[in-house]
Amino acid sequence: MKTHVKALVVGGGAVGTSIAYHLAKAGWDDVMLVERDELTSGSTWHAAGLLPLFNMSYATTHIHKYSVDFYKSLEAETGLNAGFAVVGNLRMAQTDARMDEFKLYASTAETCDVSYEWLTPDEIKSRWPLIRTDDLKGAIYHTEDGYINPADVTQAMAKGARQRRGGDCAQDAGRCLSLDRQPLGSHLHQDGRAGRQSGGLGRAGGDHRRACGDGIGQPRAAHC
Ligand SMILES: Cc1cc2nc3c(=O)[nH]c(=O)nc-3n(C[C@H](O)[C@H](O)[C@H](O)COP(=O)(O)OP(=O)(O)OC[C@H]3O[C@@H](n4cnc5c(N)ncnc54)[C@H](O)[C@@H]3O)c2cc1C
Repeated sequence: MKTHVKALVVGGGAVGTSIAYHLAKAGWDDVMLVERDELTSGSTWHAAGLLPLFNMSYATTHIHKYSVDFYKSLEAETGLNAGFAVVGNLRMAQTDARMDEFKLYASTAETCDVSYEWLTPDEIKSRWPLIRTDDLKGAIYHTEDGYINPADVTQAMAKGARQRRGGDCAQDAGRCLSLDRQPLGSHLHQDGRAGRQSGGLGRAGGDHRRACGDGIGQPRAAHC
């Protein structure tokens, strides 16, 4: 195992592997990710994997849009099929107030160039014949929404990071227990082993982030 790296990522869930992948893609040629157990052994493994493109936040919509575009290219890059499917998303309203809420989603979607359609109850029925529509006002239909298997996309991002030769994603690497900060870098201690990191530290410990942050001297740092 390497003992000196430019950037160290702690935690091998969707967030950590994405950081490692994107650093490697950005040309960082010396990135290491350490995972205390197996990649995806955290909450990523349990995630539903829905990819809803529409919401009320412009920033989140842009992140989701980037993710969907990225997932389309990741399989071609890595050869790993993460079960990505664009199936559309039908959100139905029983009240005028709910339709008003959808209009707010629609204005965010338009600004972010996300496509959508308005459907009447009859149009909903034609798309999904099993549904009862007598109490529905209508629906907003987002054509590009879909789903993906979060555990598989995490493995694909880890493979993509490794393929780019910059991102080393180490499973069973030992829990990152503490980090001694030094003027010229930091020494990472994991289960008795020590390493050195001289550039950045990305913390992606998921639900373990408080313990992980306490150990590495970043108790209040933002969750990456
Ligand atoms: C495609 C996708 C779709 C999603 N869809 C949904 C959805 O529909 N609904 C929803 O609610 N959520 C969804 N999510 C979010 C998901 O539920 C989680 O919030 C997210 O995956 C958490 O990722 P994470 O990397 O932050 O944490 P985790 O997956 O928990 O990863 C943290 C990792 O850090 C490791 N670790 C912790 N401490 C240390 C240490 N000291 N040293 C070494 N390793 C350590 C752990 O073992 C773990 O593997 C989705 C996520 C993805 C990727």
